[in-house]
Amino acid sequence: MSRFLLNNTKIICTIGPSSQSRKIIKDLILAGMRGARLNFSHGNYKHHQLLIDNIRQASKNLNMPCAVIQDLQGSKMRTGILREPVEISKGEEILLVKTGNEDKLLKKENFKIIPIQYNLSSGVQKGDTILIDDGLIELIASQVCRDYVKARVKNSGTISSNKGVNVPGREMRTPVITAKDKEDLQFGLKANVDAVALSFVESAEDIKYLKRLINQHKLKNQTKPLVIAKIEKQTGLKNIDEIIREADGIMVARGDLGLEIPAADVPVAQKEIINKCLVSYKPVIVATQMLDSMIRNPRPTRAEVSDVAGAVIDHADCLMLSGETAFGKYPVESCRTMADVISKVEKSPYDNIKDVLLEQRASDEEALAHAAWSLALEIKARAILATTISGKTARMIARFRPEAPIIVTCQDESIQRQLLLSWGIVPFILPKLKSVDKLISKAVGRAKKSNLIRKGDKIVIISGQPAGQAGTNLVKVHNV
Ligand code: PGA
Ligand code: MN
Repeated sequence: MSRFLLNNTKIICTIGPSSQSRKIIKDLILAGMRGARLNFSHGNYKHHQLLIDNIRQASKNLNMPCAVIQDLQGSKMRTGILREPVEISKGEEILLVKTGNEDKLLKKENFKIIPIQYNLSSGVQKGDTILIDDGLIELIASQVCRDYVKARVKNSGTISSNKGVNVPGREMRTPVITAKDKEDLQFGLKANVDAVALSFVESAEDIKYLKRLINQHKLKNQTKPLVIAKIEKQTGLKNIDEIIREADGIMVARGDLGLEIPAADVPVAQKEIINKCLVSYKPVIVATQMLDSMIRNPRPTRAEVSDVAGAVIDHADCLMLSGETAFGKYPVESCRTMADVISKVEKSPYDNIKDVLLEQRASDEEALAHAAWSLALEIKARAILATTISGKTARMIARFRPEAPIIVTCQDESIQRQLLLSWGIVPFILPKLKSVDKLISKAVGRAKKSNLIRKGDKIVIISGQPAGQAGTNLVKVHNV
């Protein structure tokens, strides 16, 4: 089997201390990584640049592309820097204060003081639940003053530096794109990242704003990165339709989403978001805790295996690993395990799209993509071959989740890497060609060389004639 055909559902790995070397990155790509995520909540630019260089070099050595995804922290609230972890006990009251204002509080009251990199007083109300460190610590706000929030501890534990803080259901008056995000974005654009993900998106306006910032940057002949909206807040979920319309892709960020809304509501939200993304052929990523126990153990729990399988059955485009590959003990094993579960499920009929939520086809292009898919099914084609410029036609086919691989040729390396984030697409680069016949013969040659098709195979081709000028207007059967 061609090494490009490992699985249809793509794997994104977060790169961190456990996976930053070129050797591990190479092993991850061979194990199925198609996108590498850099988490800009941590690390400095020098380090991020090193990671990007290592990803690009490993990918070049293997001659296998890999997308780079920059993940912007956005309005995520965190604890400040603590000299040492603070132990808190059930029932006691503590003070939460904006970083830098600790000294303003009267020490005589003898409350423990926890700095927060945000002024909670501007959003929190008395009685609100405040969660720290992925919800491990739960507090109830007992008093909201101008400079601090007093909160009662519901369960004992330890608070340390830079841990996430959530106030479920409450809209905090934070800018969704912070000064740090803007600076990080400039770095990412200079480094030519393939996608930019924004945390805690609340509305289409946030995405429009991010796109404006990208457009203002002087991109030197560069393809714009895809903009991915991370859905991890109740408001983001409420405004999902307008967000999907504006964004190029969506991430179901279950870590924070499961704190901001009841965790029990997350599985249905995941299914609904994925369905909406299928209709609008925008790639959708399911993220967080997929194989969490593999941070520590060489084997996943059976529940985790079922979660990965469930996301494939839900029709996600990509599944993401976070701590498993960033700082876990078994980064490559985690990726292999994920790939293994994905391919088993994909061989079953359970990941096929049954209900055709895709009844209405708004444009001729959508109708042609549908025709290519159903033709491939009927003639049992070995592959669907699409020529594309922006990647749009290819994504229109991918949403039908065909059994045959979708081989796509494009002209630009950035588009190629971006297409890696869509289900089932195997993208290649071909130079611009004037005639469709030449384009098709080159593309077929390339697919044969990569062991994707063989002489004697029947394939379906979807393209545009005249080449490079028309949109998609041609579907045909081709005998290799
Ligand atoms: P994070 O986003 O890892 O940046 O917090 C993912 C999530 O919240 O699930
Ligand atoms: Mn998050």
